Amino acid sequence: MKKLMLGNEAVARGCYEASVKVVSSYPGTPSTEITEYIAKYDDIYSEWAPNEKVALEVAIGASIYGKRALSCMKHVGLNVAADPLFTVSYTGINKGLVLAVADDPGMHSSQNEQDTRMIAKAAKVPIVEPSDSDECRRFVKFAFKLSEMYDTPVILRLTTRVSHSQSIVELEDREDYQSEYIKDISKYVMMPAMARKRHIFVEEREKLLSEFANNCELNRIEKGDTSFGIITSGISYQYVKEAIPNAWILKLGLVNPLPQKLIKDFCNKFEKVYIIEELDPFIENYVRSLGITNVHGKDIFPLCGEYSAQLIKKVILGVEDNKCDKLSIELPIRTPVLCPGCPHRGIFYAIKKVGTITTGDIGCYTLGALKPFEAIDTCVCMGASIGMAHGINKASDNNEKAVAVIGDSTFIHSGITGLINAVYNKSNLLLIILDNSTTGMTGHQEHPATGFTIKNEPTYMLNIVELCKTVGVDNVDVIDPYNINENVEKIKKSLETKGVSVLIAKAPCRLHKRFRIDKKIRQVDNKKCKNCKMCLSIGCPAISNKDGIIKIDENLCFSCGLCQSVCKFGAIITKE
Ligand code: SF4
Ligand code: SF4
Repeated sequence: MKKLMLGNEAVARGCYEASVKVVSSYPGTPSTEITEYIAKYDDIYSEWAPNEKVALEVAIGASIYGKRALSCMKHVGLNVAADPLFTVSYTGINKGLVLAVADDPGMHSSQNEQDTRMIAKAAKVPIVEPSDSDECRRFVKFAFKLSEMYDTPVILRLTTRVSHSQSIVELEDREDYQSEYIKDISKYVMMPAMARKRHIFVEEREKLLSEFANNCELNRIEKGDTSFGIITSGISYQYVKEAIPNAWILKLGLVNPLPQKLIKDFCNKFEKVYIIEELDPFIENYVRSLGITNVHGKDIFPLCGEYSAQLIKKVILGVEDNKCDKLSIELPIRTPVLCPGCPHRGIFYAIKKVGTITTGDIGCYTLGALKPFEAIDTCVCMGASIGMAHGINKASDNNEKAVAVIGDSTFIHSGITGLINAVYNKSNLLLIILDNSTTGMTGHQEHPATGFTIKNEPTYMLNIVELCKTVGVDNVDVIDPYNINENVEKIKKSLETKGVSVLIAKAPCRLHKRFRIDKKIRQVDNKKCKNCKMCLSIGCPAISNKDGIIKIDENLCFSCGLCQSVCKFGAIITKE
């Protein structure tokens, strides 16, 4: 049977067909939907973990117990999971262990453009890289087999375009396999004496995998009629096929380790070989390390951002092909904004009024750095805001108390340890936890403080107030993010109080279906409006100023009332 599927959906299907038993992940665009689709299969246990390190550890446990297991994350999540990854490369697995890691060339929703292949190489684990949805399904199944053949975790590397585009997928039945747990401390307990032996195993495995790569079914040569050859993989293969359909191509599906003999033989056929790969010169560096010189890669192709068929045509054939690039109308520039009704808006408004150095974090609330708030000074990685505010405090000569902001999901992901550190090391900082009761940015996933599992089943709800008190914060207060005046006073007071204080700005994301409320839409009474433009300063997309007339779009208004509280003239009223 054939079905049109998203790349991420096809990965989920492949896992079902491979009889995967356990999936543990942390949401992160572009990988999130893999686990959401997996949650629809009753034969697979799936969960959201508090972070990627925990998620991978869960999958490792399941694999060692004798069941196939998967962990999904985005590229920056692999940094968090790197600790267990580097060691599970030594222990190896019992039944197949696969990490689905989605890179984001072009940084559509990421803070950097790092290349997962580099981490896989450092950790000495194989990578397979699909180019379309059916390959997503087939390659993940292959990855489980490869994992078991060579006693290794395997990374399925995706990129945004593969994860989020659709193509036809051929469905197959769910497989069967035997599972058994065998106690083996020399393999699974990585104390130095055992780890030294396993390191030798890992190096031997690398050699065997390199040999295997030469005949691996995932690597293939496509004959063409061009005078040059192209080596490519992943989504770049699709761009090449569109740009130069009749080219000679060495398409690599197993991208670590790379097939030495296959590459040498291919390059010997041509005077010139182009290596087309997004992000780092991973394949290119390897090819050059073999002494092959008739290649072009990053000397002519960009190191940053996404590629396209147009780019390949231009660089290789010198042909400008703008027919897909240009639209007949100019689209207006749309800067990202917080949604109408967003509870974070009131907090950023209050922070701006107080005017203090504020470290930010990863989530919707990173937008607090932009106009009209410009309330955030930094954003580095998940959980960094608290450590950075602590660093600012310790670096300041006058014991400056900075503000750190972080979302509820991110606080649980990796903010908790930063808070423990701040208390332990006698910091002077104010932490504002923007608790909207969901993982907002990736699309409303559950986490340990929402009280629901990935299957929407009720579960124990982590109490963030009690947690903060337990780790040693005396000043913990829950505030209403929409109450600007009170919050300005509370932030000021907290900044004057010595030590670590926490304000939990608690109000659910208004767009979450669980928290939909009866709308009390606001509208502007233009007779009372003085056109002072104060309501525009909260940056709500529902409010506009057209030809000097302030208007509220009733279709966009989520009835939070924030605009009403900033209008000093009572010109914003609740529509009856
Ligand atoms: S804040 Fe009130 S008075 Fe000022 S522009 Fe907006 S609606 Fe008019
Ligand atoms: S228009 Fe006012 S009440 Fe409606 S969502 Fe925007 S700020 Fe909230």
